[in-house]
Amino acid sequence: MVKGITVDLWDTLITDGHTMEHKRDEKRADMIMRILRLDESYRVKIMDFFVELVASFKCPLERNEWALLPYTQLQHLFDLIGVRVSDEQFEEILRIYTEEALDILPKLIEADVREILLELKSDYKIALISNTGRTPGRVLRKILKELNILDVFDALIFSDEVHLRKPNAQIFLLACEKLGTKPGETAHIGDSVNIDFLGARDAGLKPIQFLPDENRAFMHPLVKSLKDVRKVIEEHYD
Ligand SMILES: [Mg+2]
Repeated sequence: MVKGITVDLWDTLITDGHTMEHKRDEKRADMIMRILRLDESYRVKIMDFFVELVASFKCPLERNEWALLPYTQLQHLFDLIGVRVSDEQFEEILRIYTEEALDILPKLIEADVREILLELKSDYKIALISNTGRTPGRVLRKILKELNILDVFDALIFSDEVHLRKPNAQIFLLACEKLGTKPGETAHIGDSVNIDFLGARDAGLKPIQFLPDENRAFMHPLVKSLKDVRKVIEEHYD
């Protein structure tokens, strides 16, 4: 009997497509070059770093542990491009780097995400489990508030705050602990096969893949809309 649901954030509840994050990265590169007074030759190095960063998000491993926090991401970048940064410059860059998504806001993946979550909430406890990237939990809370879904969660777990990333089983178990549900009583919904589906399954939760777009690897059970989550839980896991 499922009593709790954990939900992924990016590309499950909110999305911004490839182009919006690319635009933010271009603005981040501009800002870093301006503050550090770097010449144009650094632009491509900084943009290459963002490519490596995104690859690290898709495949969290011990060797890319530096991608866990915005602070360590920037340290990695500055090592990579070989520049010296004062404490004041680092602070200023970190603040702008982490708050860029407030200027270019992501969108809800479905217009009625709030209504769907509130309907599920009548029977299930709900936790968010997000692997944060350049935008930390502190800023994501503001974004969720802006999108009017912050208040629907019983627990919020952001990787930069708990220093754990999916697919690590510990982050799923922590979510269950916060919800007061056993892993076997908890469904997890997320778009990624290795980070969400397999991670949740290995932690003993009941995984459901969120797959709005057909052209991707998929697992079973899956939902194409968040509206179908209740039906899939009842059919497969109750
Ligand atoms: Mg996701």
